[in-house]
Amino acid sequence: MNFSNSEKLYEEAGKVILGGVNSPSRAYKGVGGGTPVFMKKGKGAYFWDVDGNQFIDYLAAYGPIITGHAHPHITKAIQEAAADGVLYGTPTEHENVFAGMLTEAMPALERVRFVNSGTEAVMTTIRVARAYTGRNKIIKFAGCYHGHSDLVLVAAGSGPSTTGNPDSAGVTKNIAEEVITVPFNDIDAFKEALDHFQDETAAVLVEPIVGNFGIVEPEPGFLESVNDLAHAAGSLVIYDEVITAFRFMYGGAQNLLGVEPDLTALGKIIGGGLPIGAYGGRKDIMEQVSPLGPAYQAGTMAGNPASIRAGIACLEVLKEDGVYEEMDRLGRILENGIVEAAEKYSIPAVVNRLHGALTVYFDIEKVTNFQDAENSSTGKFAVFFKKMLQKGINLAPSKFEAWFLTTAHTEEDIRQTIQAVEEVFAEGLE
Ligand code: PMP
Repeated sequence: MNFSNSEKLYEEAGKVILGGVNSPSRAYKGVGGGTPVFMKKGKGAYFWDVDGNQFIDYLAAYGPIITGHAHPHITKAIQEAAADGVLYGTPTEHENVFAGMLTEAMPALERVRFVNSGTEAVMTTIRVARAYTGRNKIIKFAGCYHGHSDLVLVAAGSGPSTTGNPDSAGVTKNIAEEVITVPFNDIDAFKEALDHFQDETAAVLVEPIVGNFGIVEPEPGFLESVNDLAHAAGSLVIYDEVITAFRFMYGGAQNLLGVEPDLTALGKIIGGGLPIGAYGGRKDIMEQVSPLGPAYQAGTMAGNPASIRAGIACLEVLKEDGVYEEMDRLGRILENGIVEAAEKYSIPAVVNRLHGALTVYFDIEKVTNFQDAENSSTGKFAVFFKKMLQKGINLAPSKFEAWFLTTAHTEEDIRQTIQAVEEVFAEGLE
């Protein structure tokens, strides 16, 4: 495959856009660098780049594009929204409709608010939890990603009872002192942290099914224990469902697992590919938010008419019969194909899959927390990623990300992908 036009564009981008990209992972940092592919067009499960190469897409824009690119129902909704004027700064009926769809799908959302990104959604849930409890500290789990607001860019301290260190320049030590990070799926570490900061913990923040060190499910009972212990300590529980909501079923991971948080952050899929975030939860907690309460959150773009209408259209597609069953069926075929190819060519790979989302890790037997994912081979993943790209398969450029199936992928796409995996494994990952 030839990427000369992408190379040219990347060089030009670097002269005007910091680092040539508007989000760091697009610069292929996770796979040792290289020229990112500049896409020109997407349709269904496929992408075409500026050099005319075609790819099967499993990046799905890091999650939102669950119906495939340019789904006609969503495209129509966006066109209609554009024709009606894109922004009003007033309420619209569509917001009511969409909020109604979300609250119906996820009963823990007694009230919601729309914002513009997952980052904003999570950031605000933390503010609301602090307002409600009058406490400051947050406990989160290592490797879970919650956007780029200050509080969640804090790395683990040296033990469960120590506060964290800034994970980014520009995040102050004072802020890091408000955050405790413990390993996912480690209830003892969580309990120790909570015991230590009993009266200070405003909220526990967790991806109920992790999407940010690959797809990692909670061990049986883990989330239930987190809920019980947190509530006993007077802390709220926030689920970051920015990746997971409407990914595995029509509803959230909380529906799938039968565990309810106090507050939930949403994003990605619910915008049908347009910018969106939302947060919500128990009515008495949400009543902390302005104009009813003292916690402030606002936005010129909040409830953006085009995003809302795209989101409604996306959920309408996802509500159709059999949509999730098919993504699960194809996901299973893909998982089996990868596992069989790995066995055939003695590639040390393990696949974590839930329905239509999966992650392939190399040189590790099992991944249940961030440390395991970190211990998996970065080098082998980088080789795998680059060889798959050459064969027309577009994966997320990091061993910590997931492959996402969409409603547009066909069994033939999956067969072609497995064929590519076989070829790459036959060549080896050294
Ligand atoms: N939470 C989770 C779980 C995410 O995966 C992400 C983005 N990958 C965010 C929050 C932040 O969302 P956004 O990029 O829309 O700000």
